[in-house]
Amino acid sequence: MTITKKHVLCLAIIFILALGAMSIASAYTGTGFSHNIPSSKYSDVSASDILSKYSNTNCHVEKTGVCTKVVDGDTIYLDTGEKVRLVGVNTPERGVEGYITSKNFVQKLCLNKQVGLDVDDSKHTDRYGRTLAVVIVDGKNLNEMLLKEGLAEIMYMPPSEFYPYSWANSDTPVASSHSSSSTSSSSADSSHSSSGSYVGNANSGKFHVSSCSSVSKMSEGNKVFFSSRDEAINQGYVPCKRCNP
Ligand SMILES: [Zn+2]
Repeated sequence: MTITKKHVLCLAIIFILALGAMSIASAYTGTGFSHNIPSSKYSDVSASDILSKYSNTNCHVEKTGVCTKVVDGDTIYLDTGEKVRLVGVNTPERGVEGYITSKNFVQKLCLNKQVGLDVDDSKHTDRYGRTLAVVIVDGKNLNEMLLKEGLAEIMYMPPSEFYPYSWANSDTPVASSHSSSSTSSSSADSSHSSSGSYVGNANSGKFHVSSCSSVSKMSEGNKVFFSSRDEAINQGYVPCKRCNP
């Protein structure tokens, strides 16, 4: 068999597809939370239909703004320039199942409308400078609605003025304790066992060989286990300078 231009072209295409698949596989997926509620569930439901199911919140409107952009189910932008991260909840990241449904739900209730914020008095902003708050739509708690609808998981990160468990149903999923919305993933969570040869610290974002002295000082709740160095790197962890994993 001679290698023709066609063969070379085929190989090139396969190579490009493989690269694409790899980049999707390693894309950031947050805590890995997903749900399979179809976006069609809300297509024929109006915002007022949804709001009428819920009772008024006892959260207080401390400031208001018009929602100009819905980034995803738990992040919105206001015309005041404020970026708001809905406190106590976590919705699927872009590229994860359920992302569209959760985002569309928030768009339906918020986009181009005036919303209220009850800012978390215990922690005003997250590490990206986004305001941590309950978003209040027509007197209703949007964070609570996302949990009760199954569109978000509970992400309780003390210190917080709010206790999201009180908004949720008994079967609402809970984000694992070390999910800091940037470095962990479900694959790491599910491999919580001492068999991992690399150990990450969900708090510092560093990872170590399991024999590193830092690992013995790490609290159990912050440990994330990886079976390979690549796995840790792919999830955004940086190598410890002492043990050089
Ligand atoms: Zn180390």
